[in-house]
Amino acid sequence: MAGVEGRVAFITGAGSGIGRATARVLAQGGADIVVTDINLAGAEETAQAVTELGRKALALRVDVSDLRAVETATAQAGQELGAIDILFSNAGIGTQVAFADMTEEDWDHMFDVHLNGTYHCFRAVLPEMKTAGWGRLISTSSMGAFTGGVRLAHYCAAKAGIAGLTVAMASELARSGITVNAVAPGVIDTPMVRQSPERWVKNMTKTIPMRKLGQPEDIAHAVVYLASEEAGFMTGQILSPNGGSYMKWC
Ligand code: NAP
Repeated sequence: MAGVEGRVAFITGAGSGIGRATARVLAQGGADIVVTDINLAGAEETAQAVTELGRKALALRVDVSDLRAVETATAQAGQELGAIDILFSNAGIGTQVAFADMTEEDWDHMFDVHLNGTYHCFRAVLPEMKTAGWGRLISTSSMGAFTGGVRLAHYCAAKAGIAGLTVAMASELARSGITVNAVAPGVIDTPMVRQSPERWVKNMTKTIPMRKLGQPEDIAHAVVYLASEEAGFMTGQILSPNGGSYMKWC
């Protein structure tokens, strides 16, 4: 199985949670990793784990809401690790606020990080993937884009935007050798979820048919599949590891 062996992956928000787990699993599969995050210390910790697995890693501080910063990072990554084959656009924030209290800044910041951040990353890596005639663009939507969520109107709207962007890009790139897919995680046990009150986490867990939170690795393995050579016929898909949360009766 070719998997992701010898590939170079660029991951955003890789200093924590799902991004960190994905960096590890990709490295276990033989990929080198550009570990980026707004939090450099977190990125450096992940990069250390990647090198301990025997792969190359480059830790960079990147704020995905800043197009120039993303472009600078992808250029530096290309010089130090080689052309980027796999993009995992994962950086995110989970700020909760009721719509009535939501400021324009709250709304704009959510879109800047999630939807604009994904657009910036796609835009920065695409030219080289087109030249190579091979690439994997993987974005991070959310189950919430399809189920909704209280105090999460801005988050769900931005994540629905990412789903639309992903499917549209998949259509546009269908004959290019580049696949475009998203993961739409259910509720996963990461620092983002743990910042919510314990009662909220307990109540959310009760709504999941499997009655447990997902682990970051549950998403990481889905991403590694989408990134693999073997997933070459998968495009325009939104894969949702969610413990059965879309089922109504169980
Ligand atoms: P996490 O542990 O908080 O990791 C997210 C990382 O992104 C953090 O290191 C965070 O840094 C970083 N980040 C925030 N803003 C950034 C920016 N502007 N530029 C670059 N990096 C930035 O959360 P996670 O749960 O792993 O989330 C990963 C992705 O999965 C997010 O897109 C999230 O919306 C999505 N998701 C998560 C769940 C879930 O249940 N956990 C469900 C559905 C979707 P700071 O910590 O410094 O902010």
